[in-house]
This record gives sequence, C-alpha cells and structure tokens, in this order.
Amino acid sequence: MWKWTDPDNIKAIILDADSLDEAYLSFPYNQYIPEVQLFFVKDINNMNDKEIEIMGYYDTTTLLQDILIRSKCDSTSIISISNNPIFLKEMMQNHIGTILTCILAKDLLRNTPDFTDCTINSLPKILKGELYGYGAEVYATYGHGFPSMSLLKCKSQILLNDGTEREAIVFMGGRYYSEKHRYLLNDPLSYEVLNFKRNYTDSVDLFFDSVISFIRNYKAIDVLTYIPLKPKDINEKKYDRFRNLKLVNSSQNGIKLQQVLGFNKDFSQKGNDLYVRKEIVKGAFNVLSDIKGKNIIIIDDVYSTGSTIEEAIKTLYENGANKVFAVLLAVNQMTESNIEYHNLICRECGKEMKLKMNKNGKLFFGCSAYKQHKAISTTIDLEQGLNLLKDKNKLEVTNVRDLEDEY
Ligand SMILES: [Zn+2]
Repeated sequence: MWKWTDPDNIKAIILDADSLDEAYLSFPYNQYIPEVQLFFVKDINNMNDKEIEIMGYYDTTTLLQDILIRSKCDSTSIISISNNPIFLKEMMQNHIGTILTCILAKDLLRNTPDFTDCTINSLPKILKGELYGYGAEVYATYGHGFPSMSLLKCKSQILLNDGTEREAIVFMGGRYYSEKHRYLLNDPLSYEVLNFKRNYTDSVDLFFDSVISFIRNYKAIDVLTYIPLKPKDINEKKYDRFRNLKLVNSSQNGIKLQQVLGFNKDFSQKGNDLYVRKEIVKGAFNVLSDIKGKNIIIIDDVYSTGSTIEEAIKTLYENGANKVFAVLLAVNQMTESNIEYHNLICRECGKEMKLKMNKNGKLFFGCSAYKQHKAISTTIDLEQGLNLLKDKNKLEVTNVRDLEDEY
C-alpha cells in the first residue's frame, strides 16, 4: 500500500531513466492518469548533451526540491518508478511513493518499496488504484481483503548437509516498522504484528487463511505448520499466537495447523548480526512427525534476517519434505526517514494521538485521555487518520538561502 501517497490524487511521476526499460519510459501514463506530469531523471554523470528532456541531478534531495517547485504539487501526489531499489530507498526516505519494476533481492528487503515486481501489465492497475498492495497491510488497514492484493516474494537456496541445494520460497504480507526505527510509528500492520504476539488478532488470522488458500490453488499441500514457541517461552506460559489462530477457510477445506517442529534449545536473536543469527539457530529444530514426501506450508510472524525461517525450512528438507513454502506476516524495515515525524494532535487536550484498538478489534486514532473527553468525540477513524498523517508528514519546499548570499 502507498505509505505516503494519496492514491486518488497522483499528479506527478518521477521516472528513473538510469534504470528503467524503454517500455516504462514510453508508457502512456496520461491514459491512466489524465494530465499527469512526467519527470524523466538521470544521475548527472550519466547524461549526454542531447538528452534535453531529461532532468540531470547531483543528489536526490536537490532533485526532489526541484520537482516539488516545478510540479507545484504536494509530495503526497508524487510517485517514483525505478528498476533500482537503491534509488527508491532515497525516495522513501523523503516520503515519495515507490514502484519497483523487478523482484526485490533478499538483502534489500529491509527497504521494501510500496509496490514491487511491477510488470508493464500491472502498472495500469496500480495507477488506477485497483491494486491495493501487500496483503497483510491491506487486512490490517481495512479489516478484510480485496481480490487484487500482492505478496512480497523472496527466493533463496538452502544448502543441505549432504551438499545438495533446495529452493526456499518465502511469501511476506507487508512491512513491519519497529519502534527503534521511527520511520512510521502509527502503521496499522506494525501495530497488528505487535498485538498478534500477545492477543488473538482477527486481521492476521484472515491474512494467513487467505494466503494458505492462494498457495493451495496451485499446489496440493499436505501439512500446515508454524514456528513453535521456544522452551523458555513455554515455561513462562507465553501466549501461543499460532495455536490460537482459527484459519476457518483452511480447516473447512481439510487442512489444520499442526506442530511439526520442536525447539532443541533456547536462544535469542535480538541484536545479533546475520552471521551470529545463522550460527545460533543452527540445529535448533527437531521434527516431531513423519514428513517424508510431504508438501508443507510453514508460517511465522516477522522476517528479520531470515535465519530462523531458513533453518526451519532446511530442517524440513533434511527430514524428507518434498516442497516447502514459508508465509511470513511482515518483513522488518530499516529505512530511516529524512523528515521529522509528526503525530496527530488531539484537538481537546493537545496530546499526541496514537493507534489504538477498540474491543471489536478495529484500529482508530486517539489520545491517552480520549475516554475522558466526554463532551465531544476526539477519536479519528483509521483511514481518515492515515490520510491526515500523510499530509502532516509530507516533504516541504525548504527555503535554503543560496550560499552566494553570504558573501
Ligand atoms: Zn485528548
């Protein structure tokens, strides 16, 4: 889903001429968004004299200031399209909408654009607002799904002990922003991810159920399983999030969530780097039932470095699984914002408003004292609040005085 863009009001498109194919550069954007302004941009070092229709730039900050002034529109109305995730990362940092035209490589998942793997055929759907974005983000925002949603897909090779390689296919439902990386504090999916660790969460249940059906449409699945709690968490009687899922559709269609993996040891991945994480998790799982020749879906909540889920997939293959698909709720993001983040402010008491959940599981914005504001209702519904936040956190034109003025 668009993190910073108003999908009903796209007025300008930045096209990265350094990386995009001709098909995207000559695409009839005006057919789908009438009078949309196009900005073809290139790193100034890659320019030749003849390219007069292309804007050369030294750095993206100056480029975006230039485009804000020339286009005369808000950054919430500007999107960017590129085949280069690094270019889009810089756009994201400035709260510009992002479309990547290729699959995102595994080591770049921490800077996931609004849309990835956008083909020339899916582009009209995105421009017309018919493709909603990543499934878990959609469920967290609307409480239900739409026919047109996407999943982030990541393929990697898993090396087994006997030296053979197997393919690991991981599907992810959207982006998770931890509180440490204060990129977007009031993000519906991030709220739901945290809530899911402690309580039953309807939107998460619906998301997993729909992805399981989606995979079963093209592959017969024998076993549906999950990453279990660690021994320490079981001893502490921690909430067992996966066991509490209902997965109504899946169980009606003859597949129930079952525990296949057990943990051999306790460990923590927090704060560890990729290498340490991989080492720590090695040999962590044992298999509790016969899975020889079975096609398996395994689910988990947050993908950080992928080391836990990859070790789980490896263990399943080592024990004879035929094909393994992993479904993760969200992938941890590390993108830092260049813009200071502003929360909504309560009009009654002036305190910051944050995401909250009502007893029906619906998200809304409210200050810490909203229950005491009896005279008027001060809460704001989720969609309206998200739109206000986009506007409040847009990229502004900065009036930087020219250095020459100093002399
Ligand atoms: Zn208040």
